[in-house]
Amino acid sequence: KKRNPHESEFHQAVKEVFDSLVPALAKNPAYRKQAILERIVEPERIISFRVPWVDDHGKVQVNRGFRVQYNSAIGPYKGGLRFHPSVNASIIKFLGFEQIFKNSLTGQPIGGGKGGSDFDPKGKSDLEIMRFTQSFMSELSTHIGPDIDVPAGDIGVGAREIGYMFGQYKKMRGGYEAGVLTGKSIDSGGSLARKEATGYGTVYFVEEMLKDKGFSFKGSTVTVSGSGNVSIYAMEKAMELGATVVACSDSGGYIYDKNGIDLSTVKRLKEVENKRISEYVKEHPDAHYFEDCAGIWSQPCDIALPCATQNELDKMAAKILVANGVKAVGEGANMPSTHEAVEIFQSEGVLFAPGKAANAGGVSVSALEMAQNSARLSWSFEEVDAKLQEIMKNIYLESMKAAEEYDAPGNLVVGANIAGFIKVADTMIMQGVI
Ligand code: NDP
Repeated sequence: KKRNPHESEFHQAVKEVFDSLVPALAKNPAYRKQAILERIVEPERIISFRVPWVDDHGKVQVNRGFRVQYNSAIGPYKGGLRFHPSVNASIIKFLGFEQIFKNSLTGQPIGGGKGGSDFDPKGKSDLEIMRFTQSFMSELSTHIGPDIDVPAGDIGVGAREIGYMFGQYKKMRGGYEAGVLTGKSIDSGGSLARKEATGYGTVYFVEEMLKDKGFSFKGSTVTVSGSGNVSIYAMEKAMELGATVVACSDSGGYIYDKNGIDLSTVKRLKEVENKRISEYVKEHPDAHYFEDCAGIWSQPCDIALPCATQNELDKMAAKILVANGVKAVGEGANMPSTHEAVEIFQSEGVLFAPGKAANAGGVSVSALEMAQNSARLSWSFEEVDAKLQEIMKNIYLESMKAAEEYDAPGNLVVGANIAGFIKVADTMIMQGVI
């Protein structure tokens, strides 16, 4: 804390991981001797840079860009770019730190990184988005590459932004290098099923967890926060598996539709028209809109999937969910539940799937996109989806196994952290003190 003052999200993420590593450190004294914790918590490199651009009124705007190249023990830095006004060093470091363990859990050869900018894409014209992303990539391009660091999307960065960045990277580097970014459009070398991967993966993971206890999405009532990339495809897969999704949200509020949300309306409003979720009730008069996004957790459900942003589900919300009989919580977002909320779920016997494991489907398919780019091949949707299911199942089994081995049976927070950590820590030891 002394070295990184005012970085509350970063402290929160590190504390959660380090607390659960205690049994792994006790079993393997080499980790302490080799100062693995001291090394792993320190990013290999942080790049912070100026992003000047000209808005539609001819005014010069300046944002701040970041790339944290956190850990490359097991592969090139890999992690998304977030464009949101709340972005600062603490947010990017917490996300980058989490990414190390998540990427290790996927079983793919990818290290951890994250980046972004405090640029707010809301209300910007298409040309403004293009000018901003081009300026951002002009600097970032000197630090990334298919074997060095491979960014992807995150909040505020979808196919359009990736497309403009890919174009600018080509211009800066003098040619086409498919493997430098993932989440590309299919014709630019993207992978089928990448768009769906995080949401689908979260549901696959939660289904494995439910299956172990004799439950399933089939016949369950589900609430999903957010209505962005992760939320939409978590809703889609939950519905396909027979659940009724009754609520979703955006940062303005949430909608409740007791008949089950009509996903085609949400997709059109959010993916095509860029509108607020409040518009949904104009087309579905039986549904209700509440101007309080956190209120979504007061709606009774069997399964809650927080898929919006960090710390969106606090102690109060956790208590209400438990009182309403929630059976399982699966984190599609990164660190959406506060530490206190997780403690409540675990002490009340609610099945809890931490984001690090449950939302690893996105980066897994990004790694598959890299593999397809290197081989100059493209796999079918079904092939990628089958691989994704296999990966999510493995992450679940590996996390459960580590939890069992380290005396915390069924605790997926401990299991995922330890399973992700050991591979990176052992590799760091093999690579010497660097
Ligand atoms: P998007 O930008 O596509 O969507 C984010 C959604 O969350 C928007 O609907 C946004 O609404 C909403 N939102 C933001 N803040 C709140 C809030 N406080 N309460 C309710 N809704 C809110 O981002 P993604 O779907 O890509 O990312 C969502 C989360 O998933 C993030 O934590 C991200 O790090 C994580 N993640 C994403 C992956 C990916 O592949 N995309 C991979 C792994 C994790 P509004 O439009 O009003 O801002």
